[in-house]
Amino acid sequence: MKDWSHILTHLGENKVDHFNAIVPPIVQSSNFKFPDIASFKKGFQNELESNVYTRGNNPTVKILREKIAMMEGSEDALVFSSGSAGISSAIIGNLSAGDHIICVENPYSWTFKLISKFLKRFGIEYSFVDGTNIDEIQLAIRDNTKVLMLESPNSLTFEIQDLQECAELCKKNNIISIIDNSYCSPYYQNPIDFGIDIVVHSGTKYLGGHSDVVFGALCASKSMVEKIFHSEFMTLGACISPHDAWLVIRSLRTLPIRLEKISQTTLKVIEYLKTHPKIDYVCYPLDKDFPQYQLAQKQMRGAGGLFSVNYKTSNIHKMEVFCNALAEVFQLAVSWGGHESLQIPTCVFYNLNPGETPRLPFSFVRYYIGLEEADYLIEHLEKALTLL
Ligand SMILES: *Cc1c(COP(=O)(O)O)cnc(C)c1O
Repeated sequence: MKDWSHILTHLGENKVDHFNAIVPPIVQSSNFKFPDIASFKKGFQNELESNVYTRGNNPTVKILREKIAMMEGSEDALVFSSGSAGISSAIIGNLSAGDHIICVENPYSWTFKLISKFLKRFGIEYSFVDGTNIDEIQLAIRDNTKVLMLESPNSLTFEIQDLQECAELCKKNNIISIIDNSYCSPYYQNPIDFGIDIVVHSGTKYLGGHSDVVFGALCASKSMVEKIFHSEFMTLGACISPHDAWLVIRSLRTLPIRLEKISQTTLKVIEYLKTHPKIDYVCYPLDKDFPQYQLAQKQMRGAGGLFSVNYKTSNIHKMEVFCNALAEVFQLAVSWGGHESLQIPTCVFYNLNPGETPRLPFSFVRYYIGLEEADYLIEHLEKALTLL
């Protein structure tokens, strides 16, 4: 059991170093001075831990790194200016031309583009496989496979991988396992406990939690963090600003209460929706009807506010009217993890780009539940559903 209170309230905050202020300062400085040549030399020898230059390390950012590493149970962590930067660094850091990567099908869209478009230009082979079946992953392994990229659950249809089985398979075959753990956040799932090598996050979601910061995190062993720091992290230069790091430290104080409230509200909303005659099915990893419910229970402590619904309708116009009627309360916007409820209806993607048909029906909607009360959300759903 992790000591969340200690991690989120105290860890990494040495108050004597900053005027005994309760709240750590925003050290808004790009560079740091040294008293003499010997200490300047020492700084260069350990740029990851010393205060030399803010693209590498910064005292405010360091507090955030320590907290996030402890939350995931990893030896160290890096924070980035976006989740995508963290994901890309973890993947690129473990691949060279001629290598092969296996990734679960339907990952986050920019993870898909990184592997299928970007890395392809540099001679890296790839396979996308059904991660719900360990045999499919095993069958995809080649002599040159170096990385297995997981996303469990993913953020639209919530497929899950058995993390322990995946980690064991990777260890046997000398493959680095990476997981995008944004859906659960470190509060509800710690993949390192199951043997996964690298955990990445879109911190923009629950860790930031207020829809006002874009950032990412990477958690791994000390040696892996050092390796990535000295290549991708420093060369690509996607560092977080001290001010944004400070905002995230502030957000983390309330991570447990936000997630617990959001999870409770989500269960109430789902319970209501499941009784409604217009519902075809609800998709939520910790719902008893979810196909991988048992596995979800085994490796996740909670599921938060993201779920999907498929409605019973064959009329796209009615679907649009219904979604519009809800748009004041469930705002039409990408992202999730903040204080506000959101919806991404699949009907948005119909007749969007010529020749592209979405893989999901127009009657499918992904919802995110924020910090509003369940009664308020249900009342508006009920009213809008009369239009469907
Ligand atoms: C949002 C998101 C990302 C990308 O993170 P950014 O912070 O937007 O770069 C990656 N994975 C998942 C599952 C996400 O939801």
